[in-house]
Amino acid sequence: MALILDGKAVAAGITDGLRARVAALARPPGLAVVLVGEDPASQVYVRRKGELAASLGFASTRFDLPADAPHAAVAAVIDRLAADPAVDGILVQLPLPAHLDAVKLLERIPVDKDVDGITSSSAGWLSIGRPMFAPCTPKGVMRLLASANVPIAGRTAVVIGRSNIVGRPMARLLELADATVTICHSRTPDFAKFTREADIVVAAAGRPRLLKSEHVREGAAVIDVGIHRVDGKLIGDVDFAAVSPKSGVITPVPGGVGPMTIAMLMENTVEAAERRRAP
Ligand code: NAD
Repeated sequence: MALILDGKAVAAGITDGLRARVAALARPPGLAVVLVGEDPASQVYVRRKGELAASLGFASTRFDLPADAPHAAVAAVIDRLAADPAVDGILVQLPLPAHLDAVKLLERIPVDKDVDGITSSSAGWLSIGRPMFAPCTPKGVMRLLASANVPIAGRTAVVIGRSNIVGRPMARLLELADATVTICHSRTPDFAKFTREADIVVAAAGRPRLLKSEHVREGAAVIDVGIHRVDGKLIGDVDFAAVSPKSGVITPVPGGVGPMTIAMLMENTVEAAERRRAP
């Protein structure tokens, strides 16, 4: 039976460790969260992030814009936050409504406030092996693997998914940790050909229970990034019941990668505050 990685507990340990760093700052870290529209899942995520930030003593502010907010209005909010010295980190909750050019808007976030690691500058720093702020979900996955001492250097890893916020930076972080990495995506004819051989599999395809027992090898580390609500229950991209007996370590959904993502946002924000106050 696999070791089930308790993301909730690891995340709690990380956020607890941030309290002392927050206390050491002359003024609290400022996290600004921008939400456009009323997507119910986004509302939940933004509320959770705000609550955790407040409980850690951050100065957390939230900017809600209507779903039909024009590009210029969202841009103006981001520009104001970019110029505000009290703001250390800016998070624009995704997805943005379809009429907005998300890439262009996100590019307005200065790299030293990009605590979500979403801009092309952040991706560029990551791609040359000098991450400023790595995106929170893949960074959280790396910490979860480390928490269980899963060996990465010299091992093979497969990432299913190539989004800019999860799959691509995930592959890059694993490669920076000296894994040999393969990326599978929607045009990969048979991802199982790769996952069956892999020491580490990260499922981030956004497809409920995509990864089955026959797709992984005995003893593999299986990380489930997916989140889906099916029949009122949260499930992931991994068929947990089928895969867990075969894997070496595995993350549950909920309680695996999700809490780590929020913890990494908090950590990135504290780091942003520390860097901006450094002499
Ligand atoms: P996305 O839709 O932007 O990207 C999905 C990727 O998977 C694409 O690159 C696509 O090519 C690939 N893909 C789709 N179907 C595939 C298939 N059948 N086989 C192989 N590859 C396939 O999604 P995303 O933003 O990267 O998110 C992925 C999942 O992770 C979603 O379920 C999302 O809700 C979840 N997520 C969770 C967290 C968290 O904190 N746990 C954070 C972000 C996203």
